[in-house]
Amino acid sequence: MLIDIGALKGETGGTKAFEGVEEVKPPSDEIDIGEVRVEGVCTNTGDAILVSGTVRAEVKLPCSRCLAPYSIALEREFVEQFVEGEEAGDDFRAFSGDSIEIHDIIEEAVLLALPMKAVCSPDCRGLCPICGVDLNYESCDCEQKDLDPRLAVLAKLKGVD
Ligand SMILES: [Zn+2]
Ligand SMILES: [Zn+2]
Repeated sequence: MLIDIGALKGETGGTKAFEGVEEVKPPSDEIDIGEVRVEGVCTNTGDAILVSGTVRAEVKLPCSRCLAPYSIALEREFVEQFVEGEEAGDDFRAFSGDSIEIHDIIEEAVLLALPMKAVCSPDCRGLCPICGVDLNYESCDCEQKDLDPRLAVLAKLKGVD
């Protein structure tokens, strides 16, 4: 998304609102990132153009326990400073001319908002580690040995397992 800030450049303290829709490439094929809705405001702080806003998206991804795809609503705020004609620094990015490209900051905001361990529900029972059935819908006769991992090592040594 390209924001025209031409009129804003000469006006310290001035602001310009923006909104739109952006596409973001998902980090893996199993994740489907729908339309990313973006809204925010650019502010001329005198030293920089401050770009702040919110990204919102409906994301479909597999549950890390039962592997079933489910949807979550993501929302994350972003704030970034852009300085004209300088090399990008630690706390600001560079721009030149009368527009600012914010695709990268939108993409980063969405990727940071993706959950590391996505679970379809806090109560998700996951898959049986032995036969693989989805324990949310089925039960199985596998012996669920809920052993302490240290005891499991002992059991193995004794040949009990
Ligand atoms: Zn699940
Ligand atoms: Zn089972």
